[in-house]
Amino acid sequence: MIKVHDKYPLLKHNTFGIEATAERFVEFSSAEALVGFLKEGFSGKSLVIGGGSNLLFAGDFAGTIFHSRIMGIEVLGESENDVLVRVGSGVNWDEFVGYCVEQGWHGLENLSLIPGEVGASAVQNVGAYGVEAGDLIVKVEAIEIDGASPCVFTNADCEYAYRHSIFKGAEKEKYIITHVTFRLKKHAGFKLSYGNLKEKVDELGGATLANVRKAVCEIRSAKLPDPAEIGSAGSFFMNPVVAAAVAARLKEEYPAMPQYPLACGDVKLSAGWMIEQCGWKDTPHEHVGVYRHQALVVINRGGAKGGDVIAFAAAVVASVKEKFGVELNMEVNVIE
Ligand SMILES: Cc1cc2nc3c(=O)[nH]c(=O)nc-3n(C[C@H](O)[C@H](O)[C@H](O)COP(=O)(O)OP(=O)(O)OC[C@H]3O[C@@H](n4cnc5c(N)ncnc54)[C@H](O)[C@@H]3O)c2cc1C
Repeated sequence: MIKVHDKYPLLKHNTFGIEATAERFVEFSSAEALVGFLKEGFSGKSLVIGGGSNLLFAGDFAGTIFHSRIMGIEVLGESENDVLVRVGSGVNWDEFVGYCVEQGWHGLENLSLIPGEVGASAVQNVGAYGVEAGDLIVKVEAIEIDGASPCVFTNADCEYAYRHSIFKGAEKEKYIITHVTFRLKKHAGFKLSYGNLKEKVDELGGATLANVRKAVCEIRSAKLPDPAEIGSAGSFFMNPVVAAAVAARLKEEYPAMPQYPLACGDVKLSAGWMIEQCGWKDTPHEHVGVYRHQALVVINRGGAKGGDVIAFAAAVVASVKEKFGVELNMEVNVIE
């Protein structure tokens, strides 16, 4: 089924809580219906959205927004060790993770409570607590917008890297994802080494799927704003990576600066720490600020427009550049 809405309000379709309008908003509940719609001669500017949790609308969208309503979780096959599961791109990500935990399928539990939908997980390569969705994705089914042709991408085709995939790179905005297939394990193989996850799991009585999910949800809820209450798109900036010599110079000047050496020799810095050192926790703008528990998260303090957020972000970037000489890049997709 296809539903087409004209002049459609986007407030409920972005977790930043920005009021904007799409010229046209198209919802589809099957790949076949989407192909039929595209074959009727679709052209013009387009955007695909899921839950809108990694988007910032700069203003109204003068084009067509596609949103998947393809639901369903289907077991394609299983062995003694693993299970192959095909999921509709419109399924809520956390509901899918919760379902896997209930079924006793291992692999996604560390990715509990990440907002958004299954289709976007394959674009964004969502990650948390040492696990990335791309580690478990076997296949991505999509429709090419130009030509309305169905395509299948293997895991290797997707070119997964940190918060990155081919759908954010060479094939950006060319495909609408309809289904994602995951291979999940039937036996325990918990990853608890990240942050205080193990400590929290132990407090809950030890490593079980349910306890890991509960621990992740509790840690996240204490650190990140609930999109239902405070508008944000999660981490607004990426943690910058600098050469070892730059990191060493910064450490000399700022001994408390957190630094994470990478295997390649470069060093990852904490964007949140630098933003906090620039004083942004205490100096919000009228409609925009940073979250009190995590300065990496830019929040809508009420009534913010896309332009207010962009201006605030530019001021944050300039202050970090001035104080530390480090360039911050946005993780959020700004939609013009
Ligand atoms: C409070 C909070 C916490 C967060 N924590 C994390 C975290 O821990 N780890 C993490 O990785 N991310 C995190 N995020 C970011 C966000 O949740 C993820 O990027 C998520 O995958 C976005 O899903 P979405 O459905 O909302 O996608 P959207 O924001 O709607 O879209 C994101 C991108 O995917 C594309 N897209 C969406 N659906 C499709 C589709 N069906 N076909 C083709 N392209 C599509 C869009 O065009 C866009 O480029 C957080 C966000 C918030 C608000």
